[in-house]
Amino acid sequence: MTTTTLINTVDKAPAVPPQADCAAIPLIGLTRTGLRSALADAGVPERQLRMRTGQLWRWIYNRGVASFDDMTDVAKELRAALGERFTLERPEIVSEQISNDGTRKWLLRLAPDELGRRQDVETVFIPEDDRGTLCISSQVGCTLTCTFCHTGTQRLVRNLTAGEIASQIMLARDRLGEWPHQLEANPDAPVSGRFITNVVLMGMGEPLYNFDNVKDAMEIAGDGEGISLSKRRITLSTSGVVPEIVRAGAEIGTMLAISLHATTNEVRNKLVPLNKKYPIAELLQACRDYPGLSNARRITFEYVMLKDVNDSVADAKRLVQLLKGIPAKVNLIPFNPWPGTAHECSDWGTIEKFAEVVNRAGYSSPVRTPRGRDIMAACGQLKSASERLSARDRKALQEAAG
Ligand code: SAH
Ligand code: SF4
Repeated sequence: MTTTTLINTVDKAPAVPPQADCAAIPLIGLTRTGLRSALADAGVPERQLRMRTGQLWRWIYNRGVASFDDMTDVAKELRAALGERFTLERPEIVSEQISNDGTRKWLLRLAPDELGRRQDVETVFIPEDDRGTLCISSQVGCTLTCTFCHTGTQRLVRNLTAGEIASQIMLARDRLGEWPHQLEANPDAPVSGRFITNVVLMGMGEPLYNFDNVKDAMEIAGDGEGISLSKRRITLSTSGVVPEIVRAGAEIGTMLAISLHATTNEVRNKLVPLNKKYPIAELLQACRDYPGLSNARRITFEYVMLKDVNDSVADAKRLVQLLKGIPAKVNLIPFNPWPGTAHECSDWGTIEKFAEVVNRAGYSSPVRTPRGRDIMAACGQLKSASERLSARDRKALQEAAG
């Protein structure tokens, strides 16, 4: 059976057989330790390893170069050797859409996997007056099936590599003009030197089901000699993978957002089926145990407002009870519709009443303004064209990956 017929997909990209140049090893996505061993494998002498690792790290993550030829303080022969063995390629941009509110959505096509298939993911940039938030994906599709989420209708195709996660930040910087040489040439550049001030893992996928790669990518994003985003400006959103939550606090160290969305197990079991495995009480206990939790480092509880499902005043009161003792803020998200959904967004008056109850109990409860709805870039609207794989196809892919 050939690769093309093995995988049944509606992905528009043709299946690309692995080619010679696909064998080039991607450097984006390696942590410092990984970069150091890659350079050692490439023959960089032991005594130069520390210096070369630092040099390359800065070129890649601080200056954003996409070609070894631009690394002007690296000897020509070494540049050529690196270029033969490694690649700094980013995913290909299939499309860039700009919403009438300034939100940008990129559809990215990833490099071929072991079976030569290319998958697509989406990344969204949301500019606001006081910040610019980049929403990145951690998986192609999602194994979970939250009823209100468009991504949830697309079964997991695969985890993104650390490089594919970090590359979304690199690409956004390319396109927004955020690298030093681009900022120098832009008279309208922000004083802070950043368009992207915050990163949220709220795109496609469940980040805690791709723990190691998310961890490496966030280590790269937070490194002070590179992209240098404070971990306090990175938020990881989870639907509630309880066993990984405390570990995430200890090992990844970003801010945490919990997709709560309901105040009883009965309702949450329906909306977020993962709740049957990890019910509300266990989830909230994991939140209480989250390392570094304090009033200055609060957990965000996301709550999507669904008409007649979870939006009553009684729900708001229960929510406040549940959060007692947890340094928290509540983010009320008006439901963003997508084709084929059975849900409707709560009325504005209902959302306001809900917010008032939560507010009066002392929790900040901003209502998230929907952004980029016209280009299907708002929360929960992302879904790439890659279709669901059968269990047999997934097994074949895993076997091929070794
Ligand atoms: N899988 C992770 C992160 C991605 S979803 C998680 O579930 O937390 C990011 C946020 O968007 C989550 O809070 C999710 O519940 C919310 N969301 C999903 N679909 C939505 C929709 N249609 N309208 C509004 N918010 C939605
Ligand atoms: Fe997956 Fe999050 Fe969507 Fe649920 S809300 S289906 S966990 S991406």
